[in-house]
Parts: sequence; structure tokens; C-alpha cells
Amino acid sequence: MIITEEAKLRILCEAVSSVEEGEEIGTQLLKELTESKNGIGLAANQIGINKRVCVINVKEPLVLINPRIVEHSEEQFMFPEGCLSFPGKHVRTGRHVSVVVETDNHEGKLSFSAESENINDAFECACVQHEIDHLDGITMFDRSVIAQPHRAPAKIGRNERVTITDGKETKELKWKKAQPLVESGDWEMATV
Ligand SMILES: [Zn+2]
Repeated sequence: MIITEEAKLRILCEAVSSVEEGEEIGTQLLKELTESKNGIGLAANQIGINKRVCVINVKEPLVLINPRIVEHSEEQFMFPEGCLSFPGKHVRTGRHVSVVVETDNHEGKLSFSAESENINDAFECACVQHEIDHLDGITMFDRSVIAQPHRAPAKIGRNERVTITDGKETKELKWKKAQPLVESGDWEMATV
């Protein structure tokens, strides 16, 4: 049974105390994922277990026990996502182009990157970020990108209202306030 109540998905998951406990949860998750038919990832709190275990199955089934993102690119890519907890809903999210993940059940670090010819790499990279977010009570809607960044037009009136985005958050304000943010490079002009 996959949880679809948002309030339950907002609960922060706790670390598992052993790899064995994590593996048991991982087995249940992979079973649910297989039964879902169209799912490529699942987090323990989506089946009512508030523990830090998730699975992804894009290129191969991967159980992640107490996963941590230890490095990520600043650069983001946009990705159309769905979620087994929100059937029929889709959002365009902003995700890091690459992430490095540490877990308790894999030796060394796991690297995921969307910079490849293979679309499955992008799926896997977005999926691992989506599932780890679940463990922090974050859903894909929190990562939604509604604006498409583009270059600032050559000339804008100081009091003209513009919309800017940093890839996660979008705000509308007067150009004289927005200009320093856009010039800092952290924000870009947006069309909504
Ligand atoms: Zn999900």
C-alpha cells in the first residue's frame, strides 16, 4: 500500500540502526516497486515506514540505506517528474546535474550524473534526488520549477516589474531591486 496522504509524507525519517534492518526494508520496497509496474523509485515513508531507506530501479535495482548527498553540482537541469504517492500528477523540477551519495550499505561513493547521452542517467540522477528528498519530508512539488530562465533583455525601466528565478524560487519585483540579484549570477530573468 503506497501512502498518498501528504501529511504523512512530510514526516522526517530516522536513520536505521543497522544495515540488516535497512536491507529488510529495502526488500519490501523493491517488492512494492515491482508491483507498481511504472515506478522507478520508492522511499520507506511512502509505505509507512519512517526510516531512511529508499530504492531506485532505473538501470538496476539499488537499495540505499541511510543515504546522504555529500556533493552536488551547483548547475541544475529541469526534469519532468511523477511520484507513486501522487498518481497522475506531473511537475517539472529543478535537480542537480550531478550528485555524489554515501550510504551505509555501499562501499565508497555512488556518483550520479545527468551529463550523458543516455537518458537513463538523467532518470537515475533525478530519481535518487527525488527519493532522498522523500526521506527529508520533501516532495517533488517543493522542487517545482515554473519558470524558464533566459537572458535579461537589454533595457528595462527601473520601476518595471520583472520575474526572476534561482531555479527553485520565483519572485516578482521592480527591476531596480532585481538587477543586483541577476547580476550576482544567482538569479535569472524568467518567463512564466
Ligand atoms: Zn515520490
